[in-house]
Amino acid sequence: MNLIGLAPDEMIQADIRTLIHPQLSADHLQRVVIVEGHGCTLTGADGTTYLDGSGGLWLAQIGHGRRDMAEVAAAQMQRLEYSTCFWDFTHDRAVELADRLLSIAPANMSAVHFTSGGSEGNDAAIKAARLYHHRRGDHDRTWILSRRGAYHGLTYGGGTATGIGSLLEGQGPHLPHVSHLTAPHSYRRDLFAGQDPTEFCIRELEDRIQQLGPHNIAAMIGEPIMGVAGLITPPPDYWRRVREVLTRHDILLIADEVVTGFGRTGEWFAAPDLCMQPDIIVTAKGITSGYLPMGAVLFSKPIADVLRSGVNGFPVGFTYFGHPVACAVALKNIEILEQENLLDAARDTGQLLHNLAAPLADLSIVGEIRQAGMTLALELVTDPVSRTPFPDAGVAVGRRLRDEFGVLVRVSAGSSLVLSPPFVLTENEATRLIDSIGSLLRQITRSQPTV
Ligand code: PLP
Repeated sequence: MNLIGLAPDEMIQADIRTLIHPQLSADHLQRVVIVEGHGCTLTGADGTTYLDGSGGLWLAQIGHGRRDMAEVAAAQMQRLEYSTCFWDFTHDRAVELADRLLSIAPANMSAVHFTSGGSEGNDAAIKAARLYHHRRGDHDRTWILSRRGAYHGLTYGGGTATGIGSLLEGQGPHLPHVSHLTAPHSYRRDLFAGQDPTEFCIRELEDRIQQLGPHNIAAMIGEPIMGVAGLITPPPDYWRRVREVLTRHDILLIADEVVTGFGRTGEWFAAPDLCMQPDIIVTAKGITSGYLPMGAVLFSKPIADVLRSGVNGFPVGFTYFGHPVACAVALKNIEILEQENLLDAARDTGQLLHNLAAPLADLSIVGEIRQAGMTLALELVTDPVSRTPFPDAGVAVGRRLRDEFGVLVRVSAGSSLVLSPPFVLTENEATRLIDSIGSLLRQITRSQPTV
C-alpha cells in the first residue's frame, strides 16, 4: 500500500496499524502527526502549530530546523558518511569531537567512548565500572547502586538501573546485582520517616553498603538532577556526602548527564555545581541537540587506563558508535551553543520562566515549583496539605495544553509538569508558555471541589 501523501487522520490510522511505538501512552489514539520544526515551533500535518515547551524529549537545545546543522551533515555525508570499522580505524571528526568534549568536561575526565544514545551509554558505564574493578583484581565488585524513580534508559543494563518497575514487565530476570535506594525527593517527605532527607539517604546508603558488603559493590549511578522523575533537585549537601561515602569504600560514581548535560542546567555539565565529582559521565541528547542519535561516555584517567589495558581493551561497541556525521553534527552543535551564548540564555530564560511561574505557587494544585537552568517543574497535587499526586495529569493537563493551547509539555511519572524548552525560547514564547499553563491550572483549580 502506498502511504505517501495521506491526510492527517489516515496517517494516524496507518500509524496505529503499522507501528509499535516505544511505550504506549494512555492517549495513543490521539497522537498528532508532526511534519516540521523551526526554532521552538513544531507543525502538525494539519497545519496546527505547537510551542515546544519540552524541547522534543529533553533536547533541542539550539532549536529545531537549523539550516547550518543540515549543511554540516550534508557536507560530512559527501566527504565521509561512515568510515570503516571504528575498532581498527579512526577518523578526524571523532578525534576532534573527543578533544572538544574533554575541553568542556570536568577536569578529571580524560577519555571518551562514543555511543548512539543514553541507554547504551549507561550500559557501557556499568560494564566499564565492573571491568575496572575486575582488572584490578576485585572480581566480586559487581553490584550497582541506583535510586528508585531514576531513569537510565531501557536496555537491559540501563533498564535495570532505571527504578521504574512497570518498565520491566514480562522481562524475567534483569541485570543481576542492582540495588535501588531512596531518591532525595525532599517534597515527598513521607519517604524519609520524619528525618532530614540527606541524613536519611546517607544512612540508608551506608546501611546498604554494609548489607551488600563494600567489596561487592562496583559503582553507584545517578542523575545529578533526576529528570524523568520530575526534576528532582537534591538537597545542597546530598552529592558531596554521597561522594564521600563512596570514596571511602572505593565505589565508583557514574553521573548520568543524558538530560542535564550540554547546558540544560546552564552549565556544560551539572555535576560540578552539585559537588558530585563523578568518575564516569554519561551523555547523549543535547550533545547533538537531537539532530542525530549520539551519546558519549567520559572516563576519568584511572578508569581510562584500565580500559585500555588487557587484550580486549574495552569490549563494548556497536556499528554506529563514533559515526562521522553524528560527530560532525555534535561539533557544530557545541560551536553554536558557545558562539550564540546559549548557556547564558538557558540560565536567563530559565530564570524568567521561574519568575513568570512563581505566582502559580498560590494555586492549590501546585505543590512545589522546581527550576534548574532551562528546566522547570510544577509538582501537581490534589491539595497542598496531603501532597497527594494529581491523578492522570498527563491527560488532564498535558493533553489539554496541547489541544486547547497549542503548547507541548511533558508530565512525568510523579505528576510533575516539566518544561525543558529549546534555549532559543524568546521572552514572548516564555510568557505564552507560562500564561497557557496558568490559565489551564486556574480552570482546573476552579472546577475542583474545595477540600
Ligand atoms: N538517562 C536519562 C537521565 C534519560 O533521561 C534518558 C532518556 O530520557 C536516558 C538515560 C536514555 O537515553 P536514550 O533514550 O537516548 O537511550
